[in-house]
Amino acid sequence: SQSRYTEIKKMENLRKEFVENASHELRTPLTSIKGYLETSSDDLSAGNLQHLPKFLEIISKNVNRLQFLVDDMMTLVTLEGGQNINKEEINLIKLTEDTLEKVMSLAVEKGIRIQYKCEVKTFWADPIKIGQVLTNLIENAIKYIQPGKEIQVRWLMSHREKGSEVILQVSDNGPGISEEHLHRLFERFYRIDKGRSRDAGGTGLGLSIVKHIVQGHGGQIQVESQLGEGTAFVCRFPIYR
Ligand code: ADP
Repeated sequence: SQSRYTEIKKMENLRKEFVENASHELRTPLTSIKGYLETSSDDLSAGNLQHLPKFLEIISKNVNRLQFLVDDMMTLVTLEGGQNINKEEINLIKLTEDTLEKVMSLAVEKGIRIQYKCEVKTFWADPIKIGQVLTNLIENAIKYIQPGKEIQVRWLMSHREKGSEVILQVSDNGPGISEEHLHRLFERFYRIDKGRSRDAGGTGLGLSIVKHIVQGHGGQIQVESQLGEGTAFVCRFPIYR
């Protein structure tokens, strides 16, 4: 039928766009690696070792970027291919503390304080995937807020007539995000400031991975932000009985 055809066309276009964007993203670090390898090789032949340590450092940084990109792309493609959600009863205090432990050195280095509060103790979900959601949201906050600012992580429960939800809030008092960007933030490869994201080791895929995982659990993600005030990401997970 017509609508099925349109649907297939749309999927094809999305796939094409993804491959185009991905190739573009991969090309930047590759070009840099190629250039610095050539220069290093010329220097080496000329017996000029002075700049080699610097060049190797740049090459290594770009190899890491390639690694992050490929890892994030694989994660996203796997999530999009239909998710295997392995639900268990997650101990939220433990999950949150384990995640904070992983990111703590980054935060301390930047003078950022992280507070957390678990008003819900357990939650049936995929622990690895929910851990990734938490890690990506907290790492983003660490990357994009200014030194001395704060991050709050909060797990809470909301009881509604329609049913209950477990809510995860990750908020900060950082620079905030202006209105025009908010609705595109979860798109693949979308960044507000490409240069800054790259310097921070970003791939532009973190939030789309987060969104896929939340939706894979039947949930929804929202972002609220005010320029100069801070940003809050709110994930809502329905609880099925
Ligand atoms: P990236 O790899 O660039 O971090 P993401 O998909 O994780 O990609 O995030 C997309 C963009 O959203 C980032 O480039 C950044 O500009 C913005 N962003 C994400 N979290 C925050 C935050 N807590 N404060 C300000 N900007 C943020």
